[in-house]
Formats: sequence, C-alpha cells, structure tokens
Amino acid sequence: MDTTAATSLRMSRQRARDTGTEVALRRALHALGLRYRVHRRPVRGVRREADVVFGPARVAVFVDGCFWHGCPEHATWPKRNAEFWRTKIETNQRRDRDTDERLTAEGWLPVRVWEHEDPTSAAARVRTLVKDRLT
Ligand SMILES: [Zn+2]
Repeated sequence: MDTTAATSLRMSRQRARDTGTEVALRRALHALGLRYRVHRRPVRGVRREADVVFGPARVAVFVDGCFWHGCPEHATWPKRNAEFWRTKIETNQRRDRDTDERLTAEGWLPVRVWEHEDPTSAAARVRTLVKDRLT
C-alpha cells in the first residue's frame, strides 16, 4: 500500500465507531461497575456525539484517533498534500475544543481519551471523574 492509499484508509476511518480503543475502554469501564450509554449527543440541540456518556454525572467521553485529531505524542503529518492534511487536522482540533466548550457551558464535563492510551488506566481516570461528579 502506498502512502496515499494508507492515508485514504485512515481518512475513511474518521469518526469510526467502535474502534479497538473505544471497545476496550467500554469493556474496562463495565468491569469497574460503571454503566453508560454509547454514541449519544449529550446536549439537546448540540449536534456533537460523544462515544461514552454518563448521564447522571454529566460526563461525556470522546476517544480521539491519534492521526485524525493530531495527537501531540505521535501524530504523523503526511508530507504529500501537507497543506490539505494540516488544514483537516487543525479543523478537527478546533472542533474538538468547540465541542468541549459547548458541553462545559451546559454543565457537562468533556473527557478526551487518546487512541494510544491504555484502556485500563483511561477507565480508572474516567471512573474517578464520574464518582467525583456524583458526590
Ligand atoms: Zn497518540
């Protein structure tokens, strides 16, 4: 597969649901005894869907792909069509920040989990946040 094909494949997986990290995170959360809903828009009228939603605690979890959301640790910035990809990724980052601001304004806590994170430790982090919001 050449670079362009690989990039296209990654692009086709944008906002892919049920990625490996997301499924593993949900499994880990469930193992911790947490209950949640998946793929919901937390705030009525705001067209942004979270991957894992804790209604009573008002915690919305987003699992962000390293490539597509420009992970600072090991995002790869394609050299071919560099301008195009930079614009795409930066647009996504702006949208992520905007989503976080909208949710926060409505009393929600947005939580970002990177695709590369260990699902078990990410789940532990989420549990702490959820429990704090319920007490
Ligand atoms: Zn990463």
